[in-house]
Amino acid sequence: MAVQNNVNEIKQTIKEVCEKTGRNPDEITIIAVTKYVTIERANEAIAAGITDLGENRLEGFQEKHSTIGNKATWHFIGSLQSRKVKELASNIDFLHSLDRMSLAKELNKRLKRPLSCFVQVNTSGEASKHGLSPETALSFIKELAQYSQIKVVGLMTMAPLDAEEELIRGSFRKLRELRDEISQKKWDHAPCNFLSMGMSNDYQIAIEEGATHIRIGSALVGTSEPGGE
Ligand SMILES: *Cc1c(COP(=O)(O)O)cnc(C)c1O
Repeated sequence: MAVQNNVNEIKQTIKEVCEKTGRNPDEITIIAVTKYVTIERANEAIAAGITDLGENRLEGFQEKHSTIGNKATWHFIGSLQSRKVKELASNIDFLHSLDRMSLAKELNKRLKRPLSCFVQVNTSGEASKHGLSPETALSFIKELAQYSQIKVVGLMTMAPLDAEEELIRGSFRKLRELRDEISQKKWDHAPCNFLSMGMSNDYQIAIEEGATHIRIGSALVGTSEPGGE
């Protein structure tokens, strides 16, 4: 499927879900996750009107960023090792995987300007998932005030894969409730208005539950060349 067709379909779905739930499609940023595909395919997404790209590994990010550069807004969505911060921090626009104090400390040391971060929360309780437990997220974010270069713009989660819809929905809802609790604190360093949640298989549910940033890989750019689904 051509990327343009996928983009059209996803935008149409967003529009329909927004109409149903009384939301404005302009509040939702589509991040095209290009981790499985080539630079050419990422460029196709840009030609199709996508403005935001996401990568989950340093190597993949560097490869695409070096060619596409400031034609896109860059999101790093994978777990980040502290020793890789130095090479990454100044080239990304958003980090979706802040999940520990040692990483915040390293980022703060390397950054020359504030970085917009999502704090990753494990709302499914699955041991395999990264992220803070919902119970510890609030105190973690409060403590981030000491790092002047870290701005908490929102929360990120991954729903359980292949689960019942109610489990997926519950996981997104938990993130929204936590976001509401944190944004009400009106902390200067943590406006925390955004919700990064929803992937190819569950973004409709995520939008119903308040997602502002959806991260879509396979349904948008496919998983491999040529033109794989
Ligand atoms: C790969 C990935 C996605 C996109 O997954 P798809 O199911 O292909 O849409 C979203 N978020 C994260 C963190 C990922 O690693």
